[in-house]
Amino acid sequence: MTYFNDRPIPMIDPQRCDGCGLCVRACPTKALGLRDNKAVILLDPKGLASRGGR
Ligand code: SF4
Repeated sequence: MTYFNDRPIPMIDPQRCDGCGLCVRACPTKALGLRDNKAVILLDPKGLASRGGR
C-alpha cells in the first residue's frame, strides 16, 4: 500500500484479481474501474491518469 497525503492508494495485483468488481463498487471516489476484466486505478490522488498496471 502506498500513501499520498496520509491516504492509502491501493495496489492491484493483476495476477490475483479475478475481476469481481467489488472494489469498483466500493470505491467512494470512483477511482477504480475494470479494464480487460481486471481492476485498474483510473485516477490517483494527484489527478494523474494511471497506466493501468502496464
Ligand atoms: S476486482 Fe477488485 S475486489 Fe475483485 S478481485 Fe479484483 S482487485 Fe479484488
